[in-house]
Amino acid sequence: MSKPALTATPCPCGQIGAAKKPLAYADCCGRFIEAFDTTPAPDAQSLMRSRYSAFVLERADYLRSTWDATTRLPDFTIQPGAKWLGLEVRAARSTGTDSAEAEFVARYRMDGRAVRVHERSRFLRIGERWFYVDGDAL
Ligand SMILES: [Zn+2]
Repeated sequence: MSKPALTATPCPCGQIGAAKKPLAYADCCGRFIEAFDTTPAPDAQSLMRSRYSAFVLERADYLRSTWDATTRLPDFTIQPGAKWLGLEVRAARSTGTDSAEAEFVARYRMDGRAVRVHERSRFLRIGERWFYVDGDAL
């Protein structure tokens, strides 16, 4: 890993572990973001969380890699300067053998402005990997 100090810090996605403590990045989204080639997120909700963390960590490579090829923006980049404030997963459900939906609220500040993203996202599994397809703003 390129940033060893990062691994022990609480995961940006805010996931709480069994001990009611925030999970460390290395035990949460870091497993997937830092080892995309060998360790894909095992379900749509894990993928959604790790994509949020990738936004926080400005890992555009991970966001592109986990975006379905049919909907991926070819020139996607992360707009720098956002201060991410948190992720709240409202719902996650399977919609088929290889499809799922997740509803979330993410908040960030940009140029002193508060932004709230409320979306129901669609995910697709191809082989062993889940991909973000698209979403509806709620
Ligand atoms: Zn996480």
